[in-house]
Parts: sequence; structure tokens; C-alpha cells
Amino acid sequence: MHYHIGNMLIYQEFKPGCECPLCRIRNILENRLAEQYLNDAVMEDDQRKKVNERGFCAHHTQMMLARKNKLSLALQHVTRITTLKAKLEVTDNVKLALKQAEYFAHCGETCVICDSVEDSMVRYYKTIAEMYDGEPKFKDVLLKTNGFCLEHYAALLAHAKYAHGSNRSYVYDLSKLQKKAMNDLLEDLYKFCSKHDYRNANVPWEGAETALLRAVQRLHGEEAK
Ligand SMILES: [Zn+2]
Ligand SMILES: [Zn+2]
Repeated sequence: MHYHIGNMLIYQEFKPGCECPLCRIRNILENRLAEQYLNDAVMEDDQRKKVNERGFCAHHTQMMLARKNKLSLALQHVTRITTLKAKLEVTDNVKLALKQAEYFAHCGETCVICDSVEDSMVRYYKTIAEMYDGEPKFKDVLLKTNGFCLEHYAALLAHAKYAHGSNRSYVYDLSKLQKKAMNDLLEDLYKFCSKHDYRNANVPWEGAETALLRAVQRLHGEEAK
């Protein structure tokens, strides 16, 4: 394994019954980071510098706001707002004002947690492809999952070259698995719709009651809380 990400979370989350194991892994990483950024250790110099420069996106700010340590979050905001205030220039120059507008329009989108999660996820995509190539039992584990959300399906395909000699059979297995998952979901969605007809009131749901929620997760992923 070249990417030192460890396969523990992969074996833990790759199992049937969820729309996307990679969303689950990403959510675990996001939760860990949200906790870490509320922890005093994070106020070390290099971390503080990163928070100054990048800040947190709305989603991760809300995650931290929902947790207990309000003082840490307030301190993070002191450091970030100090940086942003320095970028704000009182000016009567319309051109400079436009430059400011460009900066401030996007300053809420950069995020140290997003940066770190994205780095790790890329390593996961590579590691999963490598495991398919190098760990014989992993193929069965993969095939027993229910596929992925579309973003993560695309990410796995995009990193398929890391399955080296097995890359063709890897993309074949991935695409076949995903196609079946989409077919099954569509059938459940049809059933979900048909159950809204009173004539089908007595037809058993057989799991289709969650079809709409699963369809949303399949299209947009499962968001961390
Ligand atoms: Zn996903
Ligand atoms: Zn973020």
C-alpha cells in the first residue's frame, strides 16, 4: 500500500445496505476534523496560519457550531475575521472596490476542513484501486456493496489507473455494480410512486418506503452532520 491511508475504514464501511460507503468515510473524516478544529491543539502556529488564510466553509462552520466548544470556535473566528478585516480597504476607487468584491464574494467558500478531507479522499480513491489489484479478498467486499453516490462513483473511475494491471476489470466491476444499484433504485422509486395510488395501499413496501431518500443520497451524496 503506497498511500499510507490504511484500509481499516474501507473494510469497516464497504458493506451492503448503504448508498455510498465513500460518503460514510468522508463523513467520519469531516467529523474528526470538526472535533480537532475545536480542540486547543489546533491553535498551534501552522494551523492558525491555515485558518487565517482559508477559514471554514458554511457547512463545516455549521458542523462546529452544533458542537460544544463555543470558545474555540469564537477564537477561530477572531483569527479569521482579523485576516479578512485587513483585506478590507476603505476606498473611493471603483476598480479597487471591484477587486475587493471579487475577494469577498468567495472568501466564505475556502475551507481548511474541505482541503484536508479532499486530500484524504484522493488517497482513498487510489488506495481502493490498489486494494482491488493487490488484495484478492477485496474484490468480493467491493461487489457486495450497493455502489456509490455519483460523485464518488466518478472519482473511483477517474482514479482507476491505480488498479494497475487490473484496471480494466476494475472499471468493469465498478460500472456493472453501479448500473445494478441504479436499476434497483429505479424499481424501488417506481414502487414508491405507485404506492401513492390508493389502489396499491395493500401492496407491501418491501423497503421501497426509503426510495426517495436513497435517490437523493445517490444523486447528491450523504452530508455529514
Ligand atoms: Zn458518496
Ligand atoms: Zn468545508
